[in-house]
Amino acid sequence: YWCDYMVNLEKSKSMFEKAREYLPGGVSSPVRAIKPHPFYTEKASGCRITDVDGNEYIDYCLGYGPNMLGHANPVVKQAISDQLEKGWLYGTPTESEFKLAERIAAAYPGIDMLRFVSTGTEATMSALRAARGYTGKNKFVKIEGGFHGAHDSVLVKAGSGASTLGKPDSLGVPQDFTKHTLQTPYNDIEAMTELLESSDDIAAVIMEPVMGNVGPVLPQEGYLEEVRKLTKEYDTLLIFDEVITGFRLAMGGAQEYYGVTPDLTTLGKIIGGGMPIGVFGGRKDIIEMIAPSGSVYQAGTFSGHPASVAAGHAVLDVLEKENAHDKLNAMGQNVRSRLSEIVTDKGLDYSVSGVGSMFKIFFGDMPANYQDVLKCDKEGYFNFFHKMLDQGIFIPPSQFETNFLSLAHTEDDLEATFETYEACL
Ligand code: PMP
Repeated sequence: YWCDYMVNLEKSKSMFEKAREYLPGGVSSPVRAIKPHPFYTEKASGCRITDVDGNEYIDYCLGYGPNMLGHANPVVKQAISDQLEKGWLYGTPTESEFKLAERIAAAYPGIDMLRFVSTGTEATMSALRAARGYTGKNKFVKIEGGFHGAHDSVLVKAGSGASTLGKPDSLGVPQDFTKHTLQTPYNDIEAMTELLESSDDIAAVIMEPVMGNVGPVLPQEGYLEEVRKLTKEYDTLLIFDEVITGFRLAMGGAQEYYGVTPDLTTLGKIIGGGMPIGVFGGRKDIIEMIAPSGSVYQAGTFSGHPASVAAGHAVLDVLEKENAHDKLNAMGQNVRSRLSEIVTDKGLDYSVSGVGSMFKIFFGDMPANYQDVLKCDKEGYFNFFHKMLDQGIFIPPSQFETNFLSLAHTEDDLEATFETYEACL
């Protein structure tokens, strides 16, 4: 590879060689296969992650979003540990589970009722099934470049036109499934209108209100409101996939932050405090159609897992007590303006994007949609990623992923980070 490490990662390197014998690509999820080889983690605490060779990094990846309180938060740890004392999987309902549901419903304008699942993937899969079951319609619209997990009907390549009929993005996904997946560019109301006009078989529009899986790409003024209006007009449901933005932008996610209420919402990541969790919820008349109260089937051995639910309560306690969103959103604002200064001072044609405690430097013009993001200098970004890692800062390795802040990042950590950005850019 053209880009190698300067830090000593000998142990990580040999672990990767062994791992590749038993795990495809040496990893359990594709983004982790950083070239030429990933670092292997020994432990993590606060905003720091330490590898098996003893290198320490300030972490802006944060498990790809969940660790908003920092790694190994003591309140979350205690809650999980208290639960472990009482056993951790019952196969029966618990009080803690409906109380967490009550707290989530209180925070989300679009959620009256919900079901717990174990991942964001399950959440979007089930939300789409609920939408199809409720409306009796087959198709749905997704945004080009939007990521909703790794189940069949959302694994569809971004089309090059304004909208395209879905072709599977992966072998093993029948086109019979993905032909029901329609695509449209983000921030383009005209294209969305045309698509909704083109068929009366559209159950839902599913979207990340802020595109988080192509770096933060923000909704333009009025876009989300317009989508809400259109979906009502065309009698189709609106699903906000808030697996990233939920509890990140505000306690009530992007729907609270932007004041636009969807019919269905999916959540994950942060509400599990680092434990596996997913949530899909929404209007009572839709969610009541889920089995056993209705005929849309959904089930899971680990759903409402007591350890994840205990972590969820602890996360909410800390977020409330620490006034976390005010703090973190202000920190995000500061980070974006400092990075913008650095970029401007260096005369670089780069763009600093973000909202709340999400941020990112795009190596190119500020994108409005997926096609714009594709024009950014991906290799340049990857080279930059390596330089940062060598200097002890772990940012996401891909131009397509978002940086996150946590309550554990201090002023000193941020200052060190700005200096490193300055040196590496
Ligand atoms: N939706 C969004 C918006 C996501 O970012 C992700 C994961 N990054 C998912 C769904 C899938 O979640 P999980 O990895 O927990 O299945």
